[in-house]
Formats: sequence, C-alpha cells, structure tokens
Amino acid sequence: MGRAVSIPGPLRYTHRMRILVVADLHYSLKQFDWVTSVAGGYDLVVVAGDLLDLAGHADLDTQIVVVLKYLDRIRSQAPLIVSSGNHDGDAKNAEDEYIAGWLQRARRENLHVDGDSLMLSEDLFTVCPWWDGPVTREAMRAFIDAEREKPRKRWFWLHHAPPDQSPVSWTGKKHYGDAHLNEIIATHRPHFIFSGHVHNSPFQKEGSWIDRIAETWVFNPGHETSALPSYIVVDLEAMRATWVSSMGTEVVDLTAPLAARSM
Ligand SMILES: [Zn+2]
Repeated sequence: MGRAVSIPGPLRYTHRMRILVVADLHYSLKQFDWVTSVAGGYDLVVVAGDLLDLAGHADLDTQIVVVLKYLDRIRSQAPLIVSSGNHDGDAKNAEDEYIAGWLQRARRENLHVDGDSLMLSEDLFTVCPWWDGPVTREAMRAFIDAEREKPRKRWFWLHHAPPDQSPVSWTGKKHYGDAHLNEIIATHRPHFIFSGHVHNSPFQKEGSWIDRIAETWVFNPGHETSALPSYIVVDLEAMRATWVSSMGTEVVDLTAPLAARSM
C-alpha cells in the first residue's frame, strides 16, 4: 500500500459568498481582535475606512504599525479589501490633499486597498480612496470611469463617505454624506456600496444601516465604542443583508423593495 496522496478535486464554481462589512474601527484594538477572530468564516472581509484615529492616544506611526499587523492576520484567513477614510491620511500630495500612503504600501496578496479592484466570482469590487480635495476627487472619478470598462456580473464599491440625502448619512440632525457620490451613483449605477463615516446613522430613528438609491444598495454598519463592532453580513447566495449591533439584529431581503424600518 502506498501512502495516501491527497489529490485536489476539480475547482467548482460556487455562488456562495458571505461578506463581512465593518467600518470606522478607529484604532479599537478589541474590535480589530474581533474581526481577526471571525474573518475565517467569511469569503470576503470589507473594512470601509477610518482604521486609524486622529484623536487616538497612540501616535499615527504606532497606530499604522499595529493596524498593519491586524490586516496581515485578517488577510491570511480571507480576502480583505480596505478603503481609506478621513482619519487615515498620513501624507499629502503635491496639492496639499491628504492621502493614505501607508495603505498604498500595505497592498499585497489577499489585501486590496485604495485604487485596487478585485474580481470574485464574476463580481467586481472597486476600492475608492477618501478624497480630500478636487485633485483626489477627480482622480477617483477617473478611476471609477476606468473600472466601468471591466466585465462583471455585479459591481461593488467601497467608499468611506456614504451618499448624501440618505438614511445611511443621517446624523440625527442633518445629512452628512457626499453629494458627489450621489452624482456618480446616478451615472454608473453600481449594485452595492459599502460606506461608513457617519457613525450614528444606524442608531437613529430616521437613520439606517441600509438604503436603496435607484438600483444601488448602500450600507453603513455604524460605529460603537464597545468591544464588538457593529457589522453587516451580506450573503449573496441568500441575497440577504444582516446588521448586528448592541441594538439587536436586523435582516433585509435584497430581492424585495426596501420596507420602512421599524425601531
Ligand atoms: Zn469614522
């Protein structure tokens, strides 16, 4: 008897795809610990900006070193895509606009960052950087224009700021989204956008963690200071989105029109 040899079976195409979405971890190490501990249970992990915290106790260089270690651990368990937020700028371009230079240097296998795109099961994921002024904004617009040419089944964007005039950008007093994003949604009609930025939208009566703008589903998981981050799971097989937070769990059927939120 020879030794048993494991021969991998043929690659099977699968529609199974569960995406974990978090944003605005703001250098909460407990929340990074949690993401690291569960990442292996998902087919993709999305971190939609504000990994660092400009008001944090640790200086930015220390935060970057620590966060890079977490990103490395997460990407060893699942493909990881990370966009920058307004707290993530550590360098300036020639026009004095902030950019996340550290995130550019973090790009490696299984870790996709600002300006990258990832194709998974025929779905295209486009990672938009935070724009800090007209030059970075127009660069992002050109990036999306170029991404549009790529063949795909569905199109997903990461974009830290949520669209304006939407429950996912409602602070409780006003909308605090990005009107420029609403314009490019109208032009390109992506299927899904993962945002963050407006920390309390999901916790507000007239806010939400999910919205639909024409054909585009938009998400904002929100931010909590607890050890467990609020998060969203998008299940593309069941076509269902689930939001989990200290307020409980909400589920939305992505094949049906969005019903009014009861909370
Ligand atoms: Zn934030």
